[in-house]
Order: sequence, then C-alpha cells, then structure tokens
Amino acid sequence: MSLHRRQMIQLGTLGLSSLFAGKVFSAGTKRLATGHKPIVISTWDAGINANKGAWNVLRNGGRALDAVEQGVMVTENEQSCCVGLGANPDRDGFVTLDASIMDENGNCGSVAFLERIKHPISVARRVMEKTPHVMLAGVGAQQFAVEQGFTLEDGKLSDDAKKAYEEWLKKSEYKPSANIENSKSTSFAPLRLPNGGFNHDTIGMVALDAHGNVSGSCTTSGMAFKVRGRVGDSPIIGAGLFVDNEVGAATATGLGEEVIKVCGTHLVVEYMAQGMHPEEACKKAVEKIIRRHKGGDMKDVQVGFIAINKQGEYGGYGIVKGFNYAVCYADDHNELIYAKYALP
Ligand code: ASP
Repeated sequence: MSLHRRQMIQLGTLGLSSLFAGKVFSAGTKRLATGHKPIVISTWDAGINANKGAWNVLRNGGRALDAVEQGVMVTENEQSCCVGLGANPDRDGFVTLDASIMDENGNCGSVAFLERIKHPISVARRVMEKTPHVMLAGVGAQQFAVEQGFTLEDGKLSDDAKKAYEEWLKKSEYKPSANIENSKSTSFAPLRLPNGGFNHDTIGMVALDAHGNVSGSCTTSGMAFKVRGRVGDSPIIGAGLFVDNEVGAATATGLGEEVIKVCGTHLVVEYMAQGMHPEEACKKAVEKIIRRHKGGDMKDVQVGFIAINKQGEYGGYGIVKGFNYAVCYADDHNELIYAKYALP
C-alpha cells in the first residue's frame, strides 16, 4: 500500500475518535517546537497509531521504555508493507526483521536478520534484559526468541507482500547508487513509489516520560527486496537509534547505509549535547550525510531523523521532501508533521 494511501486511511480513522484528533502541520510554518512532558514522537504516518499505544502508557505515568515498546508493537501488528511479518520480503522472498531498543540507563538490545517472529522489538528488549549481550542475529536470534516463549510463525508472505514481490520479480530491479555521483557508496537507492514518495520501511520512536526519563525503539523489515542477509541501520545502536538520558534521544529512517556511515543518531544526540535544539541537531546530521557525497545528486535518497531532548522539545529533518513524523503529548494532541528538508 502506498504511503499516501496508508496516510489517508490512518488519518481518516482519526476522525472517528475525539481522542487523538489528528492534525497535519508543516514544520516549515512553525517555529522550533517548545517542550512537553510526557511526550512521544515517531517516524512516518504510521506513527499516529503507534503513538496511541505509547501514549496509553505515558498518560498513566508509565515508563518511557514500556511506551516505546508497546507503541511500535502496534505497527508490527498492522499488516503493512513496511514493518513486521506483513512486510515486503528480501529479493529471495523472505521477510527478515531488524529492531533495537534503548532505555534511560544506557542499556540496549537489538536483533538483526530475524525471521518468523512477530514482535522483534520485544525480542530486542529480552536481549537487553535477559542476556549479557547487545545484539543477536539470524538463526541465533530466532532460537533465543523461541526459547523465550515467542511463537515461530509460518513464514508465509502476506497477500499484499506476495503481490508486491511477484510484481518486483518481473524486473528484479536492484539499483546501485548510480544516482549519487562522486560517491564510492555501495548502497542502493530506495525505490520511488508511483506517488513520488519513497519505499520506506521503519518505525522509530522516542519518548520522554513523566519522571523525566528518555527511551527509544526502532523496528523494520528493512529495504524491500534487499540482498538476503542485508542488515540496515535500525538494529545498530548509534545508527538507527540512540538514547542518552542526560541529553535526549534520536531515531532514523531511510537509506540505512547512509545512516550507518555517519553514526547518525549518535551524531544527533551529540549535537543536542552541544546545546542544539532537536530540529537543528537533525538538520546538522542530514547535512553531514549530504556533505559526504561532495555535491553528488542525492535527490533519490531519503534519510529522516527525529529527536527529543530532556525538556521535551522535539524536531525532525529529512534530506528531501516527504518525510513526516507523528507527535503526541496530550489526549487530544497527536499530530502529523511534515519535516523541513535540505534539498529542494
Ligand atoms: N532504515 C531502514 C533500513 O535501511 C529502512 C527505512 O527506514 O526505510 O533498513
């Protein structure tokens, strides 16, 4: 389903409820966002529903860590194209999932290249809480999940994913980054959707709870039709997700290879530590990615960062137009914001 269609459906359902009256803003028309506590923000339009799951925890004085886990589980449950087992497969036809989570004490856990498990975010949390490790991958991650009581699902593609995969197989188009001139990058451009949007596949969420603690989560099926075994930025701490309870938290979406190469979310949090507002910090990290390509054409590459700080100020920024994120800080305030972007 296209981003546009998903967005219409999700925003449409908001009209049925007086709670979470969704609003759509363009960040370009607003000043830098002021602070709120508690607060949760998450990537893309799917974040509107995910925020509802997180807000149920935060509004009752719950822990940010529980909020960010339960929030993104909503998206993992939705049989969308983008996250969880309903998502598009790799180029061999298998759905492989990456996820990470980080708490207010700097503890973190992640899973990569995980198959047939419905809630990779919860497996990531178990890695954090039940093992001395940070990351488990592949069959080992799956074995651990099953030992922890997670159900091994049948591995069949969802109807939508099957259709999309069959369509993709007709051309099996796999694009190296030929459109990024002057770059030695081995990454590949995300597929453009017919509506001009991008084929992005991640929900990242960061939250500040009523006690003043920050946590974050990130979960994805990765790039659609990727090389089997490819792992993106989402399960890599400091790339797809980073939390520093003295400063704030950031998460990323978009072309993971670009995010990894600059340790994107760690960079955003460090910029905030230097005193930047979250939006400025996200902008600086985006600019760093662009600078690395020395003037190469990046119009078909999207990376988006979102961040919050300890004051509950928030912001986001993208390379190109179209990146949006959802912000929730009250029963009646769950808004979709179109982020500012670097390239026209
Ligand atoms: N960042 C994800 C990855 O590279 C994909 C996305 O956000 O669309 O795996």
